[in-house]
Amino acid sequence: MIKISNVTKKYGDFTAVKDLSLTVNKAEFLVILGPSGCGKSTLLRLINKMIARDSGEIEVNGEDIDDLKGEELRKTIGYVIQSIGLFPHMDVKKNIATVPHLLKWKNDKISKRVDEMLALVGLEPEKYRDKKPSELSGGEAQRIGVARAIASDPDILLMDEPFGAVDPINRLRLQKEFRKIQKELKKTVVFVTHDIDEALLLSDRICILNQGEIVQIDTPERIVLDP
Ligand code: ADP
Ligand code: ADP
Repeated sequence: MIKISNVTKKYGDFTAVKDLSLTVNKAEFLVILGPSGCGKSTLLRLINKMIARDSGEIEVNGEDIDDLKGEELRKTIGYVIQSIGLFPHMDVKKNIATVPHLLKWKNDKISKRVDEMLALVGLEPEKYRDKKPSELSGGEAQRIGVARAIASDPDILLMDEPFGAVDPINRLRLQKEFRKIQKELKKTVVFVTHDIDEALLLSDRICILNQGEIVQIDTPERIVLDP
């Protein structure tokens, strides 16, 4: 599903990702865990071509990402980040419809999809579709971020500390709900966090990163037993 082979990314003289190889299986929930600055966000951005690698190969669904155009990549990969996720000038429905709109879906299909996505993330469509991001709580905004990322039904979701700005009680609820949605829809997820409890709760496998290199990669059970 995602195959990363010997990828290196440098910022000037500094190597942020070092000769890294990693395969993420279809419908797998892989958590990238590691301290701040270890290269987690860089790795995600390399996968969705927001930044270019210096060497190595990345394949998505068996295709070299260099051969995937922007539109194909957006159809295949959804991306969720912490806080700055939503466009403040657009209401909730426009935010959720961003990628479907770019993909030129028909308006009635988009409206239907927006309401489905709101229901999926546990927000009443009638109450939320016309709100502006400034009228949402942190937890609601992150739900909209998830809804937006899933709206065009991508196979893969890249998530960069998506629940980091949410208060602890809502975070736990969102984590559990999101894991349920991921299993139901069989999405392949690469989820970045520095929070070990979050990694243990959510993941099928945890990839521990330090200074741009994989230190350990295994199931949460085995990582707990053999730290
Ligand atoms: P993490 O997500 O694990 O916190 P990042 O991937 O954001 O780590 O960053 C890894 C390292 O690369 C950090 O030391 C960071 O300062 C550096 N870095 C990230 N982006 C840039 C950039 N655009 N230019 C220079 N250095 C960067
Ligand atoms: P803008 O038009 O404001 O520049 P973008 O076109 O960059 O915004 O992004 C629009 C939407 O597409 C956002 O919801 C963003 O999360 C998503 N997106 C942007 N780049 C990617 C990418 N490489 N892969 C997947 N989704 C992306």
